[in-house]
Amino acid sequence: MLFKKKKFEREVSLQKDVLDSILSYCQMKHPNEGILILKGKSKHGHILIDGLVIPPFNYSGPTFAGFPQSFLPFDMSYVGIVHSHPSGPSDPSLTDLHNFFGLVSIIVKSPYGDEDIFAWDSSGNPIKLSVI
Ligand SMILES: [Zn+2]
Repeated sequence: MLFKKKKFEREVSLQKDVLDSILSYCQMKHPNEGILILKGKSKHGHILIDGLVIPPFNYSGPTFAGFPQSFLPFDMSYVGIVHSHPSGPSDPSLTDLHNFFGLVSIIVKSPYGDEDIFAWDSSGNPIKLSVI
């Protein structure tokens, strides 16, 4: 018997209604950045996102968005954050990587359409994102 080792591949599934909520939230926040906490579950590198939380005491401007992580209740269902880039590419900035939270960082770029959303890991590598 030959056991072929499958490459560990991380993958993110996003529920369609969550996607729609993210996109309208980012549009509402424009021209400032918007930031939300992603809720879901993770199993064998596969992350399912099925909810959103508006972080308490969040702040944002045209080029930044954040929240004090010390105010967050400890919750195992928080799998990452999503934030918007009102201008520029969807790549994570150095600040984004420094403030990485959870397992995945999703970035939405303007004009916040279905094709403007991308998932990244803590090293800034793209993660496959599918809408379910
Ligand atoms: Zn950013």
